[in-house]
Amino acid sequence: AFTMANVPEAPEDPLYRLMREYRQDTNEKKIDLGIGAYRDEHGKPWVLPVVKKAEALLQTPEFNHEYLPIRGLDSFLAAAQRLMLGNDSPAIHENRISSMQTVSGTGAVHLGATFISRFCRGTERPKALISDPTWPNHYQIFSQSEFDVQYYPYYSVETQKIDIKAMIRCLEEAPSKSLVVLQGCAHNPTGLDPSKEEWSQIADVMAEKGHLPFFDNAYQGFASGDLTQDSWACRYFIGRGFECCIAQSFAKNLGMYGERVGTFHYICSPSPDASHIADRISSQLAILQRAHISNPPAYGAHIASRVLNDPELFAQWQHELGIMSSRLTKVREEIRSKLEARETPGSWAFLSTQIGMFSYTGLSKDQIRLLKSKWHIYMTENGRISVAGLNPNNMEYFIDAVDDVVR
Ligand code: PLP
Repeated sequence: AFTMANVPEAPEDPLYRLMREYRQDTNEKKIDLGIGAYRDEHGKPWVLPVVKKAEALLQTPEFNHEYLPIRGLDSFLAAAQRLMLGNDSPAIHENRISSMQTVSGTGAVHLGATFISRFCRGTERPKALISDPTWPNHYQIFSQSEFDVQYYPYYSVETQKIDIKAMIRCLEEAPSKSLVVLQGCAHNPTGLDPSKEEWSQIADVMAEKGHLPFFDNAYQGFASGDLTQDSWACRYFIGRGFECCIAQSFAKNLGMYGERVGTFHYICSPSPDASHIADRISSQLAILQRAHISNPPAYGAHIASRVLNDPELFAQWQHELGIMSSRLTKVREEIRSKLEARETPGSWAFLSTQIGMFSYTGLSKDQIRLLKSKWHIYMTENGRISVAGLNPNNMEYFIDAVDDVVR
């Protein structure tokens, strides 16, 4: 008879294991620096007031819980395009974008990976290049979509900076027409983004090799606090005429992690036929979407649409993004100045140059283990801390702990 008895046990996802260990830890001083979710200065999740307001506005007698179309909520999709590409984007006006609402950023990366894998296959598996290090799910998603996944060098442990030369060299040596995953801003886990000059070097080599940029933009508004500035890299590539994929998440910037609001955009390069190509791409994305989720979750998209389309709510959102990103900057500065004041061994200046939700501490595996076992401080094994987990109540304890384990 049919049996699944020979299915081997898979390892637990390391990040979710860490979250479980944290939950099970009964020590009252424990600190969670694992998950990339914003916490306020009391260590609590923050429901953005603008989200509460938009949610209240939805509660009219006409509101219902009907299905959305396969592609998602049109008012949300159009606003999401404008947010990422700019109101005056030629790609929008020339109708050469194909957009689908997805199950947050993860679903967007997944839909894009599935689509590209299916339609750009020659005799060999297509190649996807992802940064070393990156969000671990990039590897899983692209390999499950049957890409041959390789890492390109990104972070240099010695300099604690981006190794742009090694990255460019790797992109140069990769087979032409590879898919290259780029994080649009607030790189996870390093907190380091290329400068504008470096982005232009990356674009040069990618144009020369005919690579496809696949932007994963999960933190728009978190890097600088400014939504426009944080979409600069995507807009720059599109402005140069690249054919381009973008995965856009509203989990972090609207603080709607569990509502799963996101979009996948495929931007066709300018050509007389571009809007027809985009239509055909939309038709294929709809087939994939139908088989996978039928249609995307509605509730969060309705909230996001309200915020994005109402000028007053939009202004309030920008203000609240500023609150989150400036708190993270302040926490980083505080860690740095406190460790320097203690003369904790090591160089901590990098904390000031990193941006976004995370800092890459450079702590060793042993130090990270000790932080967990002795101090009940939980961070991922690569030494990444989610800066939002620190606040005035646990900062001194954290500094004591780091000072202890590095001495
Ligand atoms: N991409 C990156 C780089 C991320 O860090 C994350 C979340 O941590 C995501 C995508 C996906 O997030 P979500 O699926 O919650 O939108």
